[in-house]
Parts: sequence; C-alpha cells; structure tokens
Amino acid sequence: MHWFNQLVVMLLPLAPKPLVKRFAARYVAGETQAQMLDTVRRLNQQGMLATVDVLGEFIHHREEALQAAQEYKSILGALAKEGLDANISVKLSQMGLLLDQTLCIEIMEDLVSTAAKYRNFVRIDMEDSACTSDTLNIYLKLRRKYDNVGVVLQAYLRRTLGDTRQVCNDLERLGVKANFRLCKGIYVEPRQIAFKDHALINKNYTLILEDMLKNRAYVGIATHNEELVWEAMRLIDLHHSKKEEYEFQMLLGVDPELRNIILDGGHRLRVYVPFGQQWYAYSLRRLKENPALAWHIIKNMFSPGDISREAG
Ligand SMILES: Cc1cc2nc3c(=O)[nH]c(=O)nc-3n(C[C@H](O)[C@H](O)[C@H](O)COP(=O)(O)OP(=O)(O)OC[C@H]3O[C@@H](n4cnc5c(N)ncnc54)[C@H](O)[C@@H]3O)c2cc1C
Repeated sequence: MHWFNQLVVMLLPLAPKPLVKRFAARYVAGETQAQMLDTVRRLNQQGMLATVDVLGEFIHHREEALQAAQEYKSILGALAKEGLDANISVKLSQMGLLLDQTLCIEIMEDLVSTAAKYRNFVRIDMEDSACTSDTLNIYLKLRRKYDNVGVVLQAYLRRTLGDTRQVCNDLERLGVKANFRLCKGIYVEPRQIAFKDHALINKNYTLILEDMLKNRAYVGIATHNEELVWEAMRLIDLHHSKKEEYEFQMLLGVDPELRNIILDGGHRLRVYVPFGQQWYAYSLRRLKENPALAWHIIKNMFSPGDISREAG
C-alpha cells in the first residue's frame, strides 16, 4: 500500500464517529431492522435481489450466538411478511464456531430449517483461513439435510480449487449440486496459503469459476472488478449457463454503475446488505480497503462537505 494510503488508514480511527456514520450510510443499511427492510425494498423495486447480513462477527458468549440467530430468524419472518426478495448471509463465528462447534451446528440447523419453512436460503460467509475447513465441513453436513444452504469460497486461497472439486464430488455422490458464492477473499493471509499478486488472484478466480460452472454448481459471482465480470460473462456464454444457474453479487454502496450495467445485460444481481449496531467496525474495514474514500473523511474532519448517500 502506498505510504500516503497507509497514513490515511492510520488516521481513520481518529475521525469523529458522526462523520464516519455519514460515510457509512453508503455501505450500511442503518442500525435497525426497519431501515434494512427499506433498503431491501428499494433494491427489489430496482430489480435487484438482496442478501442480509447482521453486523457482528467474533463473539465471546453462547448467549450472543443465540441472540444473533434469533435476530436472523426474526429477519426471515420480516422478509416473508413484507414479501421481499432477499436471503440471509451468516458468519459461523457469529454463531459460536470458535466457542463451541456443537452449539454452532445446532444453531445453523435451526436457522436453515427455519429458512426452509419460509422458502428462503442461508448463505454461509467465509471468514479467515482458521475457519475454512470447519466452515466447509459444516456446510457439507447441512447440505446433506437441506437444499437451501450455500457457502462462500475465496479465490485468493491456494487450496480453493481443490476445495471446489472436493465439495462438488462429495455432493455429487449424494446426487445434489453445490451452491457457492465465489469472492476474492478479504482477510490478510500469509503467502504460504494465499496468492498475494492481484493478477494471479484474478486468474485463479477465473479458473475456479470455470470449474464451478462446468460442474453445474450454482454460483454467486461476487466481485466489483470489471475484468472479472467480463471473464464471468465469457464463461457463462461458453458453458451455456442458464439464468437460474448463477447470479452476480455486489456489496451495498460499491459501484452502483457496474450493478446497472450487469442488470442491463439481463443477469440477476444480488446486493449484500449489512446492517446493525456494529456499523462502525464494518465501516472502518470498508474504508481501510478503499483509502481514496477514507481520504474524503479525513478532509471532511477539517471542512465538512457532502458525502453523498448511495443513489439506489
Ligand atoms: C456480495 C459479496 C460478498 C462477499 N463475501 C465475502 C465473504 O464471505 N468472505 C470474504 O472473505 N470476502 C467476501 N467478500 C469480499 C471479497 O472477498 C473482496 O474482498 C471484495 O469484493 C473486493 O474484491 P473485488 O472482486 O470486488 O475486486 P477489487 O479489484 O478488489 O475491487 C474492484 C473495485 O471495487 C471497489 N471495491 C471493492 N471492494 C470494495 C469495498 N469493500 N469497499 C469499497 N470499494 C470497494 C474498489 O474501488 C475497487 O477498485 C464479498 C464480496 C461481495 C461483493
């Protein structure tokens, strides 16, 4: 990272919270369920699907895991009641993975079966590499019983092509298809296990995506990188993937123009909608990834200006 960007990232925690909050309005759908439902409604009206994430990851007590699961169940009920087209994205660490794996599996079984009652779907987000194997094992365990669950794979991990094939083969034996979201991966991982070079990560993303499409797995193609979007469209065309076999996915607030380009191309697009009390930590992460935007905040610390809300 350029030294100037590093400086901006270091200064970020000093930025006043209200200023970060104004910036966060672009990336986070508020603190309450009602605000999140408004955002999902607006996205649906614009022809987009959504996936809802309750902010908050590593937890310290089982009660916190149970509470987070309760909130997700309440969201499933609210989405059904409002007739909104959105599923949920869940982090296993938030469901107690690192506290008690048995509890985590119980919570996830309950959540996936509740989602099934609402004819809805649960996507298991992927976290850092310490969670990868457990997350895949829990996904496979759940997938044996339920068909409304999917998992995320990260193209920056050297193991991911192997994991893709392993998951597809394991499920093939049961006569069912895998459901993946493919992203690059957001955590800082050592070079021994993760590609560091951006061009190489893109190549690996394309390679894995082709494997998934060839296997007729369902794929959520999660990227804002236009080159990868182009590669995905080439592969969709090459492998005659049907509209029901894939969707594009993007984070709320990131590149709405690209979203519209994808939609105009006739593809399905799902927007990741995070919300909740823990908006501050999430926003700092977004800003650290994009120091150019963070620089806006630093500037505004001295001369408040307009940090616009996402148009749609
Ligand atoms: C729907 C969705 C779900 C995801 N789920 C997970 C997950 O479960 N586990 C995981 O490890 N990672 C997840 N990610 C994050 C992902 O791994 C990447 O870190 C992130 O998407 C950036 O990679 P990119 O493919 O968009 O390409 P990049 O080349 O990194 O980004 C392309 C452009 O998009 C913009 N941009 C990208 N990301 C952001 C951002 N966060 N904030 C502001 N601007 C941005 C930048 O301007 C950049 O120039 C998810 C991403 C998406 C879109």
